[in-house]
Amino acid sequence: MIYLIKPLIVNITIIFSLMFNANLFFPFSKRKPLTFKQQTILGLFSAFSAKLCMLYPIETLEDTNFDFRMIPILLVTLYGGWYPGLLCTAIVVIIRYSIGGEYVYVGIAVSIMAWGIGLLFRSVFLKSSNKVLYGMMVISFYYLGYIFILFSTVPFLNINFYMVYFLAFGITFTALIYTVEKLIIANQQFDETLYLDKLSTVGQMAAAFAHEIRNPITTVRGFIQFINNDTKDEKLKQFAPLILEELDRTNKIITNYLTVARPTNFSLTYIDVNKVLQDSVDLIRPFGSYRNVTIDLKLEGEHFIYSDELHLKQALMNIIKNGIEAVDEEQGGYVTIHKQTGEEKGTIVIEFTDNGVGMTEGQLEKIGLPYYTTKSKGTGLGSMITNRLIHEMKGKIQYESKVHIGTKVTVILPTIKNTS
Ligand code: ADP
Ligand code: MG
Repeated sequence: MIYLIKPLIVNITIIFSLMFNANLFFPFSKRKPLTFKQQTILGLFSAFSAKLCMLYPIETLEDTNFDFRMIPILLVTLYGGWYPGLLCTAIVVIIRYSIGGEYVYVGIAVSIMAWGIGLLFRSVFLKSSNKVLYGMMVISFYYLGYIFILFSTVPFLNINFYMVYFLAFGITFTALIYTVEKLIIANQQFDETLYLDKLSTVGQMAAAFAHEIRNPITTVRGFIQFINNDTKDEKLKQFAPLILEELDRTNKIITNYLTVARPTNFSLTYIDVNKVLQDSVDLIRPFGSYRNVTIDLKLEGEHFIYSDELHLKQALMNIIKNGIEAVDEEQGGYVTIHKQTGEEKGTIVIEFTDNGVGMTEGQLEKIGLPYYTTKSKGTGLGSMITNRLIHEMKGKIQYESKVHIGTKVTVILPTIKNTS
């Protein structure tokens, strides 16, 4: 049996190497249907590998050769369709016919049968989730016909030979299906990486643009302030604050946009929620004092989450800022922040309550929509960004509100460790 190993290895190597080459020319993919030209190339490619297999037969019985030429036919029909399969089969049949000999029609019949079996099982094969298993079934059906033809036409060869031949045939065939499937997945991942890369390039370009626009705005702002200080022009005096306000608004939109444009820049770490809340409150407290709003922070227990610290801070500050802005400046008011362990295991709940203007049902529905704002100088992006960041952290956010009474925003986040 040792003498069989060499031609077997040659046949297996031929098929595998040509398959990898085909994948180089047009990467195997589930999504893109092959064009007519690609199908033709695929048909010729597999015909070529079948031809090479025929050059190195595993066993010869007078003029009859046992080789793996049916594997390319089966595979190309299953994956490529009837046309490349037919092309490959036709070429194999012509070559086999030109070799001639006593068993020429047997050789032709088993080749055509490979095409027929491939066609028969193709549609179910492509839909099946376990292609390797289904491939084994296809090959079993093929064996049935193959063995039947052999027994009824060709004198019986050594049983050991048949066993080695059919075993190697089956293993090669299923290994090829396995490899094709792996290649399809690898190609898909490659495509996705390219796509994500493009997206992040666009995001970075947009961010760079935004950044570039900010610099001239700062210059213009400075000059307007400068001119405004010692001008006698009434009109300029009247409109300068408006210009400045609009410039600030533009700046704010750009800042918000920068956060939207770079959603993928997540740097995940273990975060102490208490610290983030304390930091956020410290940062925003001056704004609260300026608007006559006291901020009250209640922290129950220690909680850690695995997330991006800057994003979490930004999300929380947006909520607190909205609370402060909702409060009537003349009367003043409060925003309380209460953090505790959630009812659901492995969660924390942070509640933000304010006694501001509140929202109607209709307003509640619209909150979080891009550019929805009721403020003359609002951007309508804050809540949208917050919602998105919280969702990216696998958390939830709920809004409850009563007009003239106030608003409660509840944020639920998954924790990693619960020490309370
Ligand atoms: P912006 O603050 O720029 O207006 P947001 O997306 O942060 O944009 O908020 C959208 C709108 O939702 C606000 O204009 C406001 O009408 C409403 N809103 C948000 N939070 C509150 C709150 N705590 N109390 C009352 N209204 C709120
Ligand atoms: Mg806001």
